[in-house]
Amino acid sequence: MTKKMLLYFPECETESPIVYHLVKDYNLMINIFRARVTPEEEGYLVLDVSGTEEDIRRGTDYLNSLNIQINDTDKGVKWDSKKCVHCGSCVPHCPTDALSIPDRKSMEIAFNTDECIECLSCIKVCPFEAVSSLF
Ligand code: SF4
Ligand code: SF4
Repeated sequence: MTKKMLLYFPECETESPIVYHLVKDYNLMINIFRARVTPEEEGYLVLDVSGTEEDIRRGTDYLNSLNIQINDTDKGVKWDSKKCVHCGSCVPHCPTDALSIPDRKSMEIAFNTDECIECLSCIKVCPFEAVSSLF
């Protein structure tokens, strides 16, 4: 199975080699979409973790033991439906169809967070700041 995770590292954990341990000690495959780690401050990591359910559970327990906050429902990119005016400018720039127009009658934009790979292209082209990044 594969699980998407958004990890937040407090200052005390920014030096921890967590990806190394997840791979070596818990047999997990890691696909990092985006990372920002500022030594002695804080860090964010957005990744896919693949492995058996048991190995993912053990790896998650390891992360929790390090005081790393795990968010497996949110991602680093947010779409604000209240700010979006459905102009469609972002859609051709989205490489995965995470932003799309599913209904050609209403022409309203939909955001599928599962498909987002955090490339940030939409943020650069949105004139209304309807898409933003957590970090
Ligand atoms: S960050 Fe990239 S993949 Fe995600 S919605 Fe924006 S353009 Fe699409
Ligand atoms: S560019 Fe911005 S305002 Fe236009 S559809 Fe995309 S998210 Fe909405």
